Amino acid sequence: MRQDRKRDIIPRPMGSLGTRLAELEKRCQDLGLPVTIQRRTILEVLLSRDDHPTADDVAADLASRVDGISRATVYRTLETLVANGLLLRVCHHGAAARYDIRTDRHHHLVCDACGGMTDFEESGLNELSLPNFARAGFCVRDFSVHVRGLCKKCVRDPSTKPRNEKE
Ligand SMILES: [Zn+2]
Ligand SMILES: [Zn+2]
Repeated sequence: MRQDRKRDIIPRPMGSLGTRLAELEKRCQDLGLPVTIQRRTILEVLLSRDDHPTADDVAADLASRVDGISRATVYRTLETLVANGLLLRVCHHGAAARYDIRTDRHHHLVCDACGGMTDFEESGLNELSLPNFARAGFCVRDFSVHVRGLCKKCVRDPSTKPRNEKE
């Protein structure tokens, strides 16, 4: 019996891009999602960046690798991956949806100035016990914490203003 769904062993995304791509392709096949050239290239783009790209970022990156993938196809493919649990859609206020190929529980540092998003892990947060939302009719599937602030680059830049700060 395979136990690769075990939640308390967090797979670290340390494998090479090739290994991780092979794993994702296997998961697609197991889910009955054909691994088309387009889907494969989109997975490659997602694995090659850790900046939580928007759909437009992915489309721009793809345009430099293959011809003729429409933006609509990119959106559709990303949403198919999300619907199948292979990709997370992470959002923060007032911004376009960003996509995260890491689907294990982790948290994000979000820069208020440049919108940059960095992964971080903290076992204490992973073990947080949540209130009983079921009483409010809300079924919790997962949670993650977004810590807002200024990234290393922006905090050093004197012209930086957090986006939501009044002039
Ligand atoms: Zn920043
Ligand atoms: Zn992330």
